[in-house]
Amino acid sequence: VSGMLSLAAGFALHELTLSRAEFEKLSRTDTLSGLLNRRAFTEALEYTEGDASLVIFDVDRFKAINDRFGHGCGDAVITAVSAILISAFDEMSVVARLGGEEFGIIISGKPLEARMERIEGVRARIASGAIAAEGHDIRITVSGGVADLAAGRNKQAVYASADRALYLAKALGRNRFAMAVV
Ligand code: GH3
Ligand code: MG
Ligand code: MG
Repeated sequence: VSGMLSLAAGFALHELTLSRAEFEKLSRTDTLSGLLNRRAFTEALEYTEGDASLVIFDVDRFKAINDRFGHGCGDAVITAVSAILISAFDEMSVVARLGGEEFGIIISGKPLEARMERIEGVRARIASGAIAAEGHDIRITVSGGVADLAAGRNKQAVYASADRALYLAKALGRNRFAMAVV
């Protein structure tokens, strides 16, 4: 009987551990896109330093997409952009939906030019295709800001730089990435 009891207790404990892990995963995941959420991204940013770039980007004129095609199509655009990001970056990079139609990426690896090429490739790929949703072919572009995560730099300052660069990219005409100059 006592063997049976400990077996049952062990089973219950295992279940508890599993659901804890599941809870932890859920609290770090964005429901719509399946990407990491802002909380998980901010955490990852704290641990990243060295040969890496922080990228923040945002879908251009997204409000017009919602207005013209409906909120469901807007959601489909967010999902499609997420799928492109998942296929473009491996687990060496951190990819997150920061909220709305805004995404964050931490690209690691040398050199800086290679990191810029990868993000430029994503921009070009998004701009060149159409997203099929509810019978519409929706064409979109994205704008982004890039800032370097050089060792010792304050993470909030790097984030603010990337954010300013994003707004510069919007002001310069959208469908582009701007690099923050420290
Ligand atoms: P800009 O080129 O300057 O980025 O213009 P924009 O229209 O993309 O920017 P704005 O911030 O004005 O619009 C973002 C819109 O995104 C407003 C909001 O209603 C919508 N939005 C936020 N979250 C979601 C979501 O989860 N799904 C959908 N469909 N729309 C969302
Ligand atoms: Mg936008
Ligand atoms: Mg936005």
